[in-house]
Amino acid sequence: MKRRTFLSKAIKTGIAGSVISQFPVFNIISKPLKSEKGLGIALVGLGNYATHQLAPALQQTVNCYLAGIVTGKYDKPDEWVEKYQIDDKNVYDYTNIDNVGNNKDIDVVYIVLPNALHAEYTIRGAQAGKHVICEKPMATSAEDCKKMVDSCKKAGKELAIGYRLHYDPYNLEMMRLGQNKVYGKVSQINAGFAFHLRNKEAWRLDKKMAGGGPLMDVGIYALQGSIYTLGMLPKKLKATNTTVDKDFYTDIEGTLEWEMDFGSGIKSNCYTSYEDGYNYLKAHAEEGEFEISPAYSYDGLAGKTPKGPMNFGPFNQQAAQMDAFAKHVLEGKENLVPGEMGWRDMFIIDRIYESAETGREISLKGIPHVLQKV
Ligand code: NDP
Repeated sequence: MKRRTFLSKAIKTGIAGSVISQFPVFNIISKPLKSEKGLGIALVGLGNYATHQLAPALQQTVNCYLAGIVTGKYDKPDEWVEKYQIDDKNVYDYTNIDNVGNNKDIDVVYIVLPNALHAEYTIRGAQAGKHVICEKPMATSAEDCKKMVDSCKKAGKELAIGYRLHYDPYNLEMMRLGQNKVYGKVSQINAGFAFHLRNKEAWRLDKKMAGGGPLMDVGIYALQGSIYTLGMLPKKLKATNTTVDKDFYTDIEGTLEWEMDFGSGIKSNCYTSYEDGYNYLKAHAEEGEFEISPAYSYDGLAGKTPKGPMNFGPFNQQAAQMDAFAKHVLEGKENLVPGEMGWRDMFIIDRIYESAETGREISLKGIPHVLQKV
């Protein structure tokens, strides 16, 4: 009854959001899910990614566990509470999330909301005294990213971005081969990530909510892949909006291409789209090519090098990512995906849009200097 009461309040205040998601019938898990030792994580926004990837991954983590949830939908908590044995007092909505500061079960809030809400909830989480993991893209502008970094610093709280591929063995292998010049110097990267999205109701097609189109959603992986394979930051870029169906993709780009110049003749050609389907990261080195494709999926990744196929077997990227953040908070281990990295990527994305709009080449002078080195 108690939960129903506060949730009906949430509906009346109109914070329930407009998205209606389809959820599978949950199976009840009987094993105890809480660890006294790990960090308690509260998922903020119980949409597709939280439901189908993060919550299941939190059953495989060893340094953290699912302690709480924050949702605007009245019908969601009961299933979650039952399935994941979440304490009633650890269920919040968007109006009372600031009270999470008084809850000792929750150490981290994990923001899994539409992009335009990342900045507000990251800042509220930190101000409430909690560490924050924020999904990609970190925000909808580099300016907001900077505010988020500053707020977490001011509150003395750690901040990480949900960049799961920084822990994935195939992507780590691309970093190792490229950064260590295993097949000689890499002179060219080709990276692309696209999928078909034609649902006009989706917040991803609403610029106010998404901040942009496929670049914000999946193109960011091509941008990241280029940077971590080379272990370098780009110096300038040029972008072109190559949207095919301009009548449909009116608010955001449908397709975008951009070239990043890393100096010394090293370039990356990147592609992203909601009008096509591809998923690859390819490096051209002096002694041959190495690549992964699919490169950015949750599983089923595959790769090849001049010496043969890559084979790392199954791996839970999200569990590794969240466990690593917990180790960072608990033991001071390095945070491979700090807020500054999300800020760096939005700095680049802002300039990709500027270039696509103006047709000009844009300098990346002043880019936040953050790199994952292997
Ligand atoms: P969904 O639309 O499936 O879920 C978003 C959730 O946010 C909703 O279910 C809802 O949860 C909550 N919400 C609150 N206010 C609103 C609103 N006004 N409109 C819509 N939803 C609202 O999105 P995804 O789960 O696919 O994506 C969420 C975030 O995660 C995005 O930033 C995305 O980029 C990122 N993501 C990252 C991935 C990765 O691989 N790292 C993969 C997929 C997504 P509730 O009803 O509980 O309030």
